[in-house]
Amino acid sequence: MDYFHRKDGALWCEDVPVADLARRFGTPLYVYSRRTFIEHYDKLTHAFAGVPHRICYSVKANGNLGILRALAQRGCGADVVSGGELHRALVAGMSPDRIVYSGVGKTVPELELAVRTGILAVNVENVEELRVLSDIAVRMGRRQGCAFRVNPDVDPHTHDYLTTGRAENKFGIALEDVGQAADLAASLPGVDLIGLDFHIGSQILSSGPYQAALRQARQVIEALRGRGFPIHHLDIGGGLAVRYDHERPMTADQFHDDIAHLVRDLDLELILEPGRFIVGPAGILVGQVQFVKQVPGKRFVIVDAGMNDLIRPALYEAVHRIEPVAPSSGQATMADVVGPICESGDFLGKDRMLPPLERGDWVAVFTAGAYGFAMASNYNQRPRAAEVLVDGGRIMQVRRRETWDDLLALELESSDS
Ligand SMILES: *Cc1c(COP(=O)(O)O)cnc(C)c1O
Repeated sequence: MDYFHRKDGALWCEDVPVADLARRFGTPLYVYSRRTFIEHYDKLTHAFAGVPHRICYSVKANGNLGILRALAQRGCGADVVSGGELHRALVAGMSPDRIVYSGVGKTVPELELAVRTGILAVNVENVEELRVLSDIAVRMGRRQGCAFRVNPDVDPHTHDYLTTGRAENKFGIALEDVGQAADLAASLPGVDLIGLDFHIGSQILSSGPYQAALRQARQVIEALRGRGFPIHHLDIGGGLAVRYDHERPMTADQFHDDIAHLVRDLDLELILEPGRFIVGPAGILVGQVQFVKQVPGKRFVIVDAGMNDLIRPALYEAVHRIEPVAPSSGQATMADVVGPICESGDFLGKDRMLPPLERGDWVAVFTAGAYGFAMASNYNQRPRAAEVLVDGGRIMQVRRRETWDDLLALELESSDS
């Protein structure tokens, strides 16, 4: 469900023709529909209305300030995985008591920022981190709330690169080490163990893996409470899938119905860290056809958006729907939609049936709101795309396009020293 739709064959975002945006702001261009991500946030809030809960949006999916501000105004919190994301979430107006911080390699300056800010919880991923966090808090005259991120060793049945909760992944504290970590937490003066956390992966289509992780988590919570730790929240991470192609992901309501009974009697607050579910469907990437090239046995539609703008097809073999922006007619033919980057892995879509396209036409790559711009790079010295946020008929440029000079600025600044 999203607010990208067609009027007389032309693609619109909410009340704005996408072609107008491409003309005005140029391409490659990310276009976001505010109504779409707010509605997805609301869907989760409503689904979990009967359970005490907090939604901490995963900033890494799309950290644009325009999006973060809109979510913050709605009461949404943040899950951050770096000091940069924490800084960004605070600038966007997210309330510290709604911020949790995950990540396997947090540095001292990052943890200092977390403690100084007084965020709800640091999701601690190993025993050594617990000790470092406590030392920092003591030095600053504070105590910091934390949760153990456990690795429940479940298979989320998703792309290998998107699993994070199997025993061989680098994330979280192994279940058998939780007892030892708890001993340490009890002895440290700077940390309060108040929660349990897991995040098992991304683009998870059904509740089974969550149910398996929750069964493990219940046992750990009971054990920790038995030892006197006031565990007041359970953070079940993110991972809810979206529809890219023909997937049939569970809805927010189904997800709630499948898992609520496993937490209801625990008398705690649930934290959810959705990223993709909220912003994935809310964004498209618009590119312009530069050339159409026929080689023996293959047709290439070469556009000005590439893997540096959207790396998901190259990195995860992700299949994003691609369509012309303008009304189309005529016989569809098979083509690869590729970018300008000097890598054979630089494609947006392979073997797609597309209506006739020619130089100058715009194409839209759908479901690009999550891990799109967020993973963009300047590879091949390509300026990163502009981003616009559409709200009904209102258009806000929420990030200007980089210039060639922007790409040099940090180097020129340091050349004299
Ligand atoms: C990436 C991440 C998320 C969000 O994952 P989605 O699949 O986008 O929902 C949530 N929590 C943590 C710890 C993450 O690393």
